[in-house]
Amino acid sequence: MKDFNQNDLTAVVEADRAHVWHHLLPHKPLESSDPRIIVEGKGMRVWDQKGKEHLDAVSGGVWTVNVGYGREEIADAVRDQLVKMNYFAQSAGSIPGSRFAERLISKMPGLSRVFYANSGSEANEKAFKMVRQISARHHGGKKSKILYRHRDYHGTTITTLSAGGQEHRNALYGPFTPGFVSVPHCLEYRAHEQGLEGEDYGIAAANAIEEVILREGPDTIGALCLEPITAGGGVIVPPKGYWERVQEIVEKYDILLHIDEVVCGVGRTGTWFGYQHYGVKPDFVTMAKGVASGYAAISCCVTSERVFDMFKDAPEDPLHYFRDISTFGGCAAGPAAALSNMDIIEREGLLENCTAMGEYMLDQLNALADRHEVIGQVRGKGLFLGAELVQDRTTKEPADEKKVQAVVADCMQQGTIIGATNRSIPGYNNTLCFSPALIATKGDIDEIIESVDGALGRVFG
Ligand code: PLP
Repeated sequence: MKDFNQNDLTAVVEADRAHVWHHLLPHKPLESSDPRIIVEGKGMRVWDQKGKEHLDAVSGGVWTVNVGYGREEIADAVRDQLVKMNYFAQSAGSIPGSRFAERLISKMPGLSRVFYANSGSEANEKAFKMVRQISARHHGGKKSKILYRHRDYHGTTITTLSAGGQEHRNALYGPFTPGFVSVPHCLEYRAHEQGLEGEDYGIAAANAIEEVILREGPDTIGALCLEPITAGGGVIVPPKGYWERVQEIVEKYDILLHIDEVVCGVGRTGTWFGYQHYGVKPDFVTMAKGVASGYAAISCCVTSERVFDMFKDAPEDPLHYFRDISTFGGCAAGPAAALSNMDIIEREGLLENCTAMGEYMLDQLNALADRHEVIGQVRGKGLFLGAELVQDRTTKEPADEKKVQAVVADCMQQGTIIGATNRSIPGYNNTLCFSPALIATKGDIDEIIESVDGALGRVFG
């Protein structure tokens, strides 16, 4: 507990209740309960307005604070940069912008250019716009369609929702941008109806993408956009053989590969980027959340030189270059924070810690599954893990969504913040999500597991 001045905080709660529209929350319940306001954070812990301490097992709620809270060196780097030079439109460069681009590219062999923006949605839209411009200028308007996968999510704007494979996130927001086509997901746990498993399923799931390409016509498809490991759609680790086959397919049909690393990027799965587990060769990689661990708003759309070259090959054409700007893509706080964030990850060996602690946590979750029949499957990579809850292990019928939320609420009561797939896939909002900061220790993980153990026992008996 922390002893915060309750007079000040009562006024804050009142102001919040009167004027703040919270993200992702239905507001009716807040009329009869206090909004939660997070006042302080340090390491893996946060404190709410009542002074209650919580162990954060979801890195700021949405896989963001990869290096943990209270990092003074990032705050100092941002402050030093802001007093020297806070902002100039990114048509000019900045010192941290150039340095971070070079540093980032050193982690991404085969890629060479960084386009700065502010959110994951925006970074994805940059890639979509690039694909459309390549189509218009290099393919006579063909190859303009973009494939996306069922259960993946790429952002909140109307166009990124058009590439969104989560029905509940899209509902009521149409009409959508045309030219986006869905391919099936690759969740092996739910492939039992097809009677396939392991590599056989992995190849079949990738071949399902090829079927869509052939149905639509390969000369209509410009890009395939995928999360390396699906995040909010249920922590879906691709099956064996999947990515290798996807790579063959995009090469066969000359389709650009866009990997959305907004969640997996910058260490979350134990490598700098999720796609690096699978040896794939993307043309676009987009990233946001962990790039600066939430210390500043920054996102990046990184491309290959092949893509970049397609925007400078005809200088006599006034429309040949990428005519795009995000005002705050020029704010120097973003790359200054991102450089410092990367320093910390390297100096403290956080990729290695993420791999080791991820394996430990996976083992502990599997041990929980031995005790709780309701856990149908545990999956994940690094400190990016999920436990899918089912009513029956044979039929795999998903657990009741309300009970899944009750587990999250019970953990919260105990002082541990966990997540769950929520309001995304109809019928399948049944996966508990864990993404502690990359600094997590065995002690932290034991505490998370103990909370989940207790909550599962109370909610499911
Ligand atoms: N891509 C993925 C995989 C995401 O999970 C998210 C957000 O959760 C986004 C894109 C959108 O990022 P932002 O909310 O920063 O626009």
